[in-house]
Amino acid sequence: MSVVYDRVALIGLGLIASSMAHAMRRDGLAGEIVGTARSAETRAVVEELGFCDRVVETAAEAVTDADLVVLAVPVGVMGDIAVGIGPHLKPGATVTDVGSVKRHVIETVTPHIPEGVHFIPGHPLAGTEHSGPRSGFADLFLNRWTLLIPDQTTDPAALQRLTDYWHALGAHVDVMDADHHDLVLAVTSHAPHLIAYTMVGVADDLRRVTDSEVIKYSAAGFRDFTRIAASDPTMWRDVFLTNKQATLEILGRFTEELFALQRAIRKGDGQHLYDYFTRTRAIRRGIIEAGQDIDAPDFGRGAVKK
Ligand code: NAP
Repeated sequence: MSVVYDRVALIGLGLIASSMAHAMRRDGLAGEIVGTARSAETRAVVEELGFCDRVVETAAEAVTDADLVVLAVPVGVMGDIAVGIGPHLKPGATVTDVGSVKRHVIETVTPHIPEGVHFIPGHPLAGTEHSGPRSGFADLFLNRWTLLIPDQTTDPAALQRLTDYWHALGAHVDVMDADHHDLVLAVTSHAPHLIAYTMVGVADDLRRVTDSEVIKYSAAGFRDFTRIAASDPTMWRDVFLTNKQATLEILGRFTEELFALQRAIRKGDGQHLYDYFTRTRAIRRGIIEAGQDIDAPDFGRGAVKK
């Protein structure tokens, strides 16, 4: 593949940015990769791992002369980063982000993007429960969707180039409106994470009663919740604080459904439970047919070493 952007600046060097860097390196998508992270510790790890051509101390330094700037920090600090980089952005450059919430990022970042710089928000629907610069891998975005959020003022050529970049990283690309994005993600990602956090929290409370049995005999359902609930606390705190309205809307609906199922159990209404579970099973089939997961039993884990 060939170079899509001459110089790419990565602001934040965790799971998402390091995965991008590995893929760019492998496929020669950037002339130069410049990275920066808040802590000296992370910057030292990245120097050691070597997935950036240069690691610099400040975001302002990183974006100087960059053709693409990727904001890959928690959603709650995107605005602060934009304040710092605004005056240093090159005319004609594209700024994008990978944040999990879009309306809040647009509201906090846009005012600091100077005339002549293209800001096109984005969100790769790809991730793991791991974080930090050691957790990235080149195939993270392969066959996953990335949603881009242009508006009426977005330059078509800049949008096309960013789309080409994501395609080169292996992703499928769609465009979406910011509010619609935040609602869809509240259903598919944000509310499920909160439910997982809650379930694991309940089990942790119970653990005090049942000693270590919750851990020792953890069955597939609970194990899957614990994987999701191991996700980065800062990232997820920011997601809920910045996608408040949509998350609360979905949690309201969730609570209603939960009460209905609770009532069916109490009343012994097996038909209600059976019909409900039949409907949800079809969703799983749809995800597999869409190529967004594999049909292997136990999520393809295979036998776990005892
Ligand atoms: P991560 O692995 O935790 O890395 C976050 C990076 O941001 C680190 O380099 C960290 O620097 C830096 N950072 C944290 N707080 C900061 C602050 N206050 N000021 C400046 N820099 C700060 O995170 P990630 O998983 O790559 O997530 C990055 C973004 O992608 C988030 O907005 C998240 O919503 C989004 N996203 C995540 C996933 C996922 O599954 N993880 C999926 C899609 C999108 P230090 O290391 O120096 O602390």
